[in-house]
Amino acid sequence: MKEILLIKYGEIILKGGNRGKFEKILIQNIANSLKNVAEVRITIAQATIYIEVKEADKLDIVCERLQKIFGIVTIVRARVCEKNLEAIEKAAYEYCRNDLQPGRKFKVEAKRSDKTFPLNSVQLGIEVGGYLHDACPGLLVDVHNPEITVQIEVRDDSAYVYCRENRIHGQGGMPIGTGGRATLLLSGGIDSPVAGHMIAKRGIEINAVNFFSFPYTSERAKEKVIELASILARYTSKVNLYIVPFTEIQLAIRDNCPEEHMTLIMRRFMMKLSEKIALRTKSKALITGESAGQVASQTLAALNVTNSVVNMPVLRPLIGMDKTEIIERSQKIEAFETSILPYEDCCTVFTPRHPTTQPKLAIVEKSESRLDTDRLIKNAMEGVEKIEVYPKL
Ligand code: ATP
Ligand code: MG
Repeated sequence: MKEILLIKYGEIILKGGNRGKFEKILIQNIANSLKNVAEVRITIAQATIYIEVKEADKLDIVCERLQKIFGIVTIVRARVCEKNLEAIEKAAYEYCRNDLQPGRKFKVEAKRSDKTFPLNSVQLGIEVGGYLHDACPGLLVDVHNPEITVQIEVRDDSAYVYCRENRIHGQGGMPIGTGGRATLLLSGGIDSPVAGHMIAKRGIEINAVNFFSFPYTSERAKEKVIELASILARYTSKVNLYIVPFTEIQLAIRDNCPEEHMTLIMRRFMMKLSEKIALRTKSKALITGESAGQVASQTLAALNVTNSVVNMPVLRPLIGMDKTEIIERSQKIEAFETSILPYEDCCTVFTPRHPTTQPKLAIVEKSESRLDTDRLIKNAMEGVEKIEVYPKL
């Protein structure tokens, strides 16, 4: 029995002149992600990507990988057969009979893109439906409310048969590499990996920056951030992670600036340094996991103060989300268990007791002017460590 994967990628992005570029990148991303997994042959026809997997026992793992590739809307495991009625009926029976149990309501839906096929879609549906009804005792026909829809696609090369209910949902979104690159401020928390995933879903390649305050934050905390980057890399194929030494800056702020401005000034440094790394790596935007009002540094007044040090757009995809919604997404992308590991982050080590929630830019700038900002930034940039992070398997 020959089983094949049909990859459907939706139609929104196919409109206009971008279709060819979109398909080429998607196929490349699929090939990269399956490179060390299975031997496959990938072809494309009629807005569907076909993946033939050489060893049948690798189909499950291939499907698992495909479920993490942006741009794929549905993955269909289908039976391939010859384009004649008898072969289609036989294939439909053999491939779907486990789903066609007595008492179940079913229908057959046929699509014919090869218009030379002697039966039209309606006729083909009726013929195969009749055949299955006879072959599976107790099966009930219900064209309006079926539990099982046997789908038949007669295409140029072959016919394909599958059970519609067994289709696998993909990530949707756009293929990575179609939307340029952005730099994610990746802490060890719950929010920032989710923010990175949401932007990557729009086809945007992700770099990550982490601020690390050794010895106040431990080697374990760093490993946790690398692990989060490798979870993100499952969706993006690779993440370049830049670890920025942050201790000198945090100590300078603690020793010279008013306590209530500590977090804001620290965050202004994070934004400035991230922008520098973004420019170096040809990123067009920054991404943070900020959500309006979540903490003192995420009120609108505070966001204005931290935003004012950078010129590039700052994407905050979680801005209108509640923590519970963010946690749901974190679980869905399988980052949550790692995010809640209890290793301290550099922010939690230097937290003021009473941070301002309605800061004034001029006043924060005045507090900050006590520091030798240029030198601190230069030193931090000199200590940046780059780690290439690959998908966590
Ligand atoms: P998260 O849950 O992602 O850790 P948070 O709840 O800790 O966020 P903040 O500490 O205010 O919230 O940080 C807001 C955003 O700033 C984070 O989502 C992240 O994008 C960025 N950020 C915070 N700390 C770091 C860090 N140590 N390295 C890199 N980015 C950071
Ligand atoms: Mg947060």
